Amino acid sequence: MPEATASTPPAPAFTREGTRHVFRIRAAEVTAVREVGPQIRRVTLGGPDLHDFSSLGPTDHVKLFLPDPETGELVAPTVVDGRVVRPAGSAPIARDFTPLPRPAASDDAALDLDFVLHEHTGPARVFAERVAVGDVVAMGGPRGSRGLPHDIDGLVLVGDATALPALSRWVAGAPEGAEVRVVVAADRAGVGEYADLLGAASVTWVDRPDDLIDAVRALGEIGPRTFVFAAGEAGAMADVRRCLRRELALPTEQIAVTGYWKHGERAFDHHSPLGDD
Ligand SMILES: Cc1cc2nc3c(=O)[nH]c(=O)nc-3n(C[C@H](O)[C@H](O)[C@H](O)COP(=O)(O)OP(=O)(O)OC[C@H]3O[C@@H](n4cnc5c(N)ncnc54)[C@H](O)[C@@H]3O)c2cc1C
Repeated sequence: MPEATASTPPAPAFTREGTRHVFRIRAAEVTAVREVGPQIRRVTLGGPDLHDFSSLGPTDHVKLFLPDPETGELVAPTVVDGRVVRPAGSAPIARDFTPLPRPAASDDAALDLDFVLHEHTGPARVFAERVAVGDVVAMGGPRGSRGLPHDIDGLVLVGDATALPALSRWVAGAPEGAEVRVVVAADRAGVGEYADLLGAASVTWVDRPDDLIDAVRALGEIGPRTFVFAAGEAGAMADVRRCLRRELALPTEQIAVTGYWKHGERAFDHHSPLGDD
């Protein structure tokens, strides 16, 4: 790494505490279903396997193993000596979701997952449409949790409806006095309670993911101790990342941008690169 000079000030460090969790595949049962808004359905999962479930960070996610929409068969891997072993025969169907841990109401812990009722067909979308109390799923992760960065005085949070659970966790964890600015591409009426959940922040609502960049530009200065998190449709996130890096010249340490899904692609892998900066 080149040494910093007078013309290249050192990039600020954004330390995020990391915690590893023992990776397990857990069986979970649907214990409640309710509408957060017309476009978001909340599914509460519970059961004895969740007794040691832990999720400490705003970017945590679980791999949810879902029934085959055609046959109803649920296939999930197992973990043997720390290694994930896929069953012979049918391949598991899995999608990523953001856990919203909730205080245990009984001896069993519980967590909520919020499903965006999007307009395409996929196993998660179909599951969310048909879900009923008593349904069984399996869940892996989170493998680890990363806390909020230390010593920040601001947050800029950008996303679409799929990112609202994560954005709400960032907002809830923001240090006192931090300036929290949120830009969301979603139908405000459709996401119901999230409009209030983000209430502690200053929120800009835009209609389309393509409008996110202009809304980010309109935020004004993003200071050196402000951390930026963005998540949503991969193409839109590639544009947001390019804007943050090239136009606003933010160092990579100051931003975390993830594609959560991609137009026209099933089971998009969020580890795929978003393109160059
Ligand atoms: C770390 C992480 C956390 C996530 N957290 C959440 C969460 O808490 N809640 C949530 O709802 N989603 C979340 N997602 C996104 C979710 O995993 C994807 O939207 C997933 O593709 C949905 O699976 P599916 O079976 O419905 O569709 P897929 O089978 O994956 O795709 C089928 C079709 O639907 C389209 N599609 C997929 N998602 C959407 C969408 N949101 N809007 C419009 N079209 C879509 C695809 O482009 C494809 O054409 C998260 C993703 C990641 C990586």
